[in-house]
Amino acid sequence: NARRKIVVLGSTGSIGRQTLDVVRQHPEKLQVVGLAAHSNAKLLLAQAAEFDVHCLALADESLASAPVGDLLQAQACSGGDGFLGFGSDAVVGLARTPGADVVVNALVGAAGLRASVEALEGGRVLALANKESLVVGGDLIMPLSRRVDEARRGAGKAPKAGPAGALMPIDSEHGAIYQCLIGEEAREVSRLWVTASGGPFRGRSREQLSGVTASEALAHPTWSMGPKITIDSSTLMNKGLEVIEAHHLFAMPYDRISVVVQPQSAIHSMVEFVDGSVKAHLGTTDMRIPIQYALSYPERWDAPVEPLDFTKIGSLDFAAPDTDTFRCLALARCAGETGGTLPAVMNAANEVAVAAFLAGEGTYLGIAECVEAVMDAHVAGGAGGVQPAESVEQLEAADAWAREEAARQIR
Ligand code: NDP
Ligand code: MG
Repeated sequence: NARRKIVVLGSTGSIGRQTLDVVRQHPEKLQVVGLAAHSNAKLLLAQAAEFDVHCLALADESLASAPVGDLLQAQACSGGDGFLGFGSDAVVGLARTPGADVVVNALVGAAGLRASVEALEGGRVLALANKESLVVGGDLIMPLSRRVDEARRGAGKAPKAGPAGALMPIDSEHGAIYQCLIGEEAREVSRLWVTASGGPFRGRSREQLSGVTASEALAHPTWSMGPKITIDSSTLMNKGLEVIEAHHLFAMPYDRISVVVQPQSAIHSMVEFVDGSVKAHLGTTDMRIPIQYALSYPERWDAPVEPLDFTKIGSLDFAAPDTDTFRCLALARCAGETGGTLPAVMNAANEVAVAAFLAGEGTYLGIAECVEAVMDAHVAGGAGGVQPAESVEQLEAADAWAREEAARQIR
C-alpha cells in the first residue's frame, strides 16, 4: 500500500503521543511500523496493540525480565517480522526498521543523537523533534541529510520544487521557517527571526528567579510539553538550542539569526529577505500541526484544529529577550558560535543541571551557573579543550565528560 511507514522513537512522550494522534487522523496515509520508549512499557504496549505494531524497543533493560516484557514479546511475535529489544542500542536499531520511510525522533536529550544518525545513514527521512541531536551533532547530521536528499532526488522521491525533505523539523519555529523558505533563494534571505514565548518568568529579574521551584517552572504559558523542554523554555535555554538548530538546518550564520519574544506564540517564526520583506508563519499553538507537516511534506493535509481568528487576536507583542536575566540563551549562542565540541558540552551540562533541579537537588539559577562553569572548564582545556566535531564517539565522550563535570559542580 502507499501509506508512509513511520517509526516513532519516544512514542510515549508529549511529541510521540501527538504524533500518534496525527496517525489517528490520517490512517489512510500513515502507518506505524515501529515504536520505542524509555520505560513506559504499559503505554507502549497499548500503542502497539492499537496501531498493530510489532517492532518495539524499550531503553530500560531492567524491563526485559518484568511481566510486561512477556506481553510485549507476545505483541512482537504476533506479527511475522516482529522484534522486541531492550537497551539503548535496540532503540537506535529501530531507526532501521525494514520498510520504514520516516523516523520520528521524539526522544529527549543527547540520547537522540545516535538515532538521528542511524535514521539518515539508513536512508530514511528524519522527522526531528529531538533538537538536542542537532545541537550536539549538527556538523555530522547535516552532511548525512544532504546525502539522503540527493538519494531522494535521484530516486524521484523528492518534490519537483523546494527542499528534498530528508530532514524535516518538527520544532514549531523551524517548521515555520522551513515553510517560509520554500520557493526562496538562499542568497536572498537576510535573517531568521526565531520567536519565543518568553516562558512563565518573562519580565522577572534575577532576584525574583532565585527561589523558583520546579512546579512553578513546569507551568508553561502557551505550550504543554515534556518536563525537560518545559524547564528549558523557562530558562530560555530552549531558545538557545533552537538558535543552534536553526544554524544547522538552514546553514545560516549566527549573526543572522535573531530571537524575538512574541508572548502570544501566534507567530511561530519569521524570515527576512534582502529587500526588507518579512514572511511570518502563524497558526494555532498545537504541536500536531508542525508534526503533521513534517509527515505530509510536500503536501498539506486537513487538521482538526481551530484556525486563528484574527478579529479576536487583538494585538501581537514583540520584545527583545532579556539575556542578562536569562543567561542560558547567551551561553547557548556562545557555544554555537564557538562550535566543535562546545555545544555538546553545553547541552550535557544543561541536561544534568535541569535533571538536578527537577529532582530538587539544584537551584533554578544554578542551571545557568552550572552550564557556564562546565563550558568554561572545556574552553580552558578540560577534556582536551574544544575540538572540531569529527565523530559520534568523540561527541559522546565530550558529553560524558561534561556530565561528570556538571554533577561535580552541582555537588
Ligand atoms: P517527553 O519527556 O514528553 O517524552 C520523551 C520520550 O522519549 C518518552 O517516550 C520517553 O519514554 C522517551 N525517552 C526518553 N529518554 C529516552 C532514552 N534514553 N531512550 C529511549 N527513549 C527515551 O518529551 P517531549 O515529547 O516533550 O520532547 C521530545 C523532544 O522533542 C525533545 O527533544 C524536545 O526538545 C522536543 N520538542 C518537544 C516539544 C513539545 O511540545 N513537547 C516541542 C518541540 C520540540 P518514557 O515515556 O518511557 O520515559
Ligand atoms: Mg520550539
